[in-house]
Amino acid sequence: MALQRGFTIWFTGLSGAGKTTLSNIVHHRLQSEGVTNVEVLDGDVVRTHLSKGLGFTREDRDTNIRRIGWVAQLLTKNNVPNIVAAISPYRNVRNEVRKMIEHVGGPGSFIEVFADCSVDICEKRDVKGLYAKARSGEIKQFTGVNDPYEPPHNPEVRVDTSQCTPEAGADMIIDHIRSKGFVKL
Ligand code: ADP
Repeated sequence: MALQRGFTIWFTGLSGAGKTTLSNIVHHRLQSEGVTNVEVLDGDVVRTHLSKGLGFTREDRDTNIRRIGWVAQLLTKNNVPNIVAAISPYRNVRNEVRKMIEHVGGPGSFIEVFADCSVDICEKRDVKGLYAKARSGEIKQFTGVNDPYEPPHNPEVRVDTSQCTPEAGADMIIDHIRSKGFVKL
């Protein structure tokens, strides 16, 4: 597989919906097929440095997403494929980032992937034990429990992670970037 031009794969979805899992598989698959210069920006990691000190108000969440979007935009401009995995609950700021990326990377270079999964199922998975803490009141402003999540209207790819395996979800994403000509066999 050879890279043709830069792009941003932007995962959005609830905590536990599968953003990190899918981004890791897609990352490794691209690497193993020869696209080696891929960067991953994981929301949890970003909050420990680039966005350290930001909280979970709408304003802080939007600031966090704008910062990640800014970095993603620099990477895309320089033909470094990048993958963002962040809840990014607000539609407006996601669309703002979409414009910023497409401005430097061209049409289609912002690939929004909706990791779609109900709160019920995410809560049953409770990968990080956060839903339990949100229910007990230990964590406030937890997306899907007591903070909003606005699903995308027209994501480039929607993966219903309650219905497929992570590998099948990753296939859908790889198929998309291949069909749009971002990578070639
Ligand atoms: P997020 O990054 O969105 O918070 P994670 O990737 O950390 O979510 O956790 C998702 C959990 O759901 C993992 O334990 C993963 O194994 C499981 N899972 C089950 N089916 C899928 C699927 N189709 N895609 C992604 N994750 C899945």
